[in-house]
Amino acid sequence: MNPKQFQTALLNWFEIYGRQDLPWQRNVTPYRVWVSEIMLQQTQVTTVIPYFEQFTEKFPTVEVLANAQLDEVLHHWSGLGYYARARNLHKAAGMINEHGFPETKNDLMALPGIGESTAGAILSIAFKQSHAILDGNVKRVLCRYMAIEGWPGQSATNKLLWEYSRYFTPEKNTDDYTQAIMDLGATVCIRSNPHCYKCPVSETCKARQLGRIKDFPVPKPKKHIPTKKCVFLVLQNDKKELFLEKRAPVGIWGGLWSFPEFSDVEGILGWCKKQNINTDKLKILSFRRHTFSHYHLNYSAIIINHQNPVNYIAEAGRTIWYDNSAKNVKVGLPTPIKRLIEHI
Ligand code: SF4
Repeated sequence: MNPKQFQTALLNWFEIYGRQDLPWQRNVTPYRVWVSEIMLQQTQVTTVIPYFEQFTEKFPTVEVLANAQLDEVLHHWSGLGYYARARNLHKAAGMINEHGFPETKNDLMALPGIGESTAGAILSIAFKQSHAILDGNVKRVLCRYMAIEGWPGQSATNKLLWEYSRYFTPEKNTDDYTQAIMDLGATVCIRSNPHCYKCPVSETCKARQLGRIKDFPVPKPKKHIPTKKCVFLVLQNDKKELFLEKRAPVGIWGGLWSFPEFSDVEGILGWCKKQNINTDKLKILSFRRHTFSHYHLNYSAIIINHQNPVNYIAEAGRTIWYDNSAKNVKVGLPTPIKRLIEHI
């Protein structure tokens, strides 16, 4: 299939079967497209929808987002993961609010958190410019359609995929085409058992012709993921408030609120001793696992009820006594910490 035929097949398919009513397809603005594209990085559409709706209701414009506190932004991102995205979004909002929304690829890519594919998606969908994209869905479609023998994470394969993506991207109707190829990957050319019988380009798909659909995309070479271990201290005061501390701005859960983290139980006991906290009655929770892209975290928690207020522990801006029942307290919490709070 030449590019024209490929584009026509996808556009005709999109008109009938494409997803036309996603929240960010309504009232299309560069801001809404940008927020949706950032949320959709590494996250599926069904997960993103409620977050997007809530986020854009709370922060309807770039100006509102730029003027919000980072804590509040992280609060509305809680549970979506990859929190650097939220921090970058907030930082970039400040820059856009000052200089206006960029309309070129280079200017967009100068903002934190925007790579070439995200810039291409924003420019094609919000500004109707012709730019290629290469998100996970597009990579999967192209790897199969062209039977590309190489793991997409390798730079040579990635380069080749960009070349094909540019080759197939049309000059006109790029917004619909971009949406169409993403939808094809998300709904038809899915990760396992793709629905080739529904695919508009199945007759010319090389992986299908070769009878090797399962071989593409070539999987990432297996790598051992290390396991780390930690124990959280869940300190509860007589008002049932929980002691939380703010994590460093960079690294895992940067800027979010967490229970104090220790490498082992002895570390907790030593810290409590220094703070004159009675540890005679404590409850130890069994280990749970949270998996990041690069390691597993096995974590447990020790719950200590401390009947006297221990405000002397608190350090302004870095620690809080958190009341989970108070709806007006808005802090960003990592998923494992949220789960622990629900468990207590
Ligand atoms: S024919 Fe199947 S494997 Fe090929 S692009 Fe279509 S859905 Fe994907």
